[in-house]
Amino acid sequence: MPWYDNIRIGGFNKGAKKKDIPDGLWLKCNGCGEIVYRKELEKNLFVCSKCGYHLRITSWDYISILCDEGSFQELDTEIFPEDPLGFRDSKPYTVRLKNAQAKSGLTEAVICGIGEIDKVPISLAVMDFRFIGGSMGSVVGEKITRSIERAIEKKIPLVIVSASGGARMQEGILSLMQMVKTAGTLTRLKEAGLPYISVLTNPTTAGVMASYASLGDVIVAEPKALLGFAGPRVIQQTIGEELPKGFQSSEFFLEHGFVDVIVPRGKLKKTISTLLGYLYSG
Ligand SMILES: [Zn+2]
Repeated sequence: MPWYDNIRIGGFNKGAKKKDIPDGLWLKCNGCGEIVYRKELEKNLFVCSKCGYHLRITSWDYISILCDEGSFQELDTEIFPEDPLGFRDSKPYTVRLKNAQAKSGLTEAVICGIGEIDKVPISLAVMDFRFIGGSMGSVVGEKITRSIERAIEKKIPLVIVSASGGARMQEGILSLMQMVKTAGTLTRLKEAGLPYISVLTNPTTAGVMASYASLGDVIVAEPKALLGFAGPRVIQQTIGEELPKGFQSSEFFLEHGFVDVIVPRGKLKKTISTLLGYLYSG
């Protein structure tokens, strides 16, 4: 079973086994292991009130947290993933796509559009970890690129919320090319003098981290998110050294200057709004 089939999502509780959480009324916090009442978690934006752990939520949850009510308009809904390589591992890629679509109700691992944060218009892209681990294939790369281009065209700021295990292996080199495409387009945004705020949620890793997620003018992270490029075992074997404790967390990245600010979910909108006030004059 691939790692992304076994994930547990706060917002919709996908992947949770019924016997663990009867009727979906209760959720187990991955931070402290306590069983928490779902309604209480919902009120707290799926942050555990006992330990502050941020349970994973969906792209639509982030959109409703960030955007002024009724302001978000989804765009680029006409692009669908295909199977250019005829790829098959334990299952054909086409079956994986269909399963992911049925499970998440999404067509791909990112939702794009325009919205407003405290009346400031933004181009917004939000990734969704439920969809094949938030992996980036051609469609995700294209939708992110279009979001950047939309910001340039409309002269508005760009906000991207990332949640990803990296490039999607089932599309091979076509996925890797999205790293160059998105990073290159961001150069044009910079030339246009428009701000880009990158929000890193748990987890943001590999090809997504190594392209647009790490290129924000301001990099915001949720507390205790797993951030990084390769997994710890690979790094350890490559460099032949012991790795410092907690080195792939938001807190470690903040300490070493990679992340600018760690923001709990409840303050995410206010923080981005304040940042846009500094960086964007309209
Ligand atoms: Zn907890």
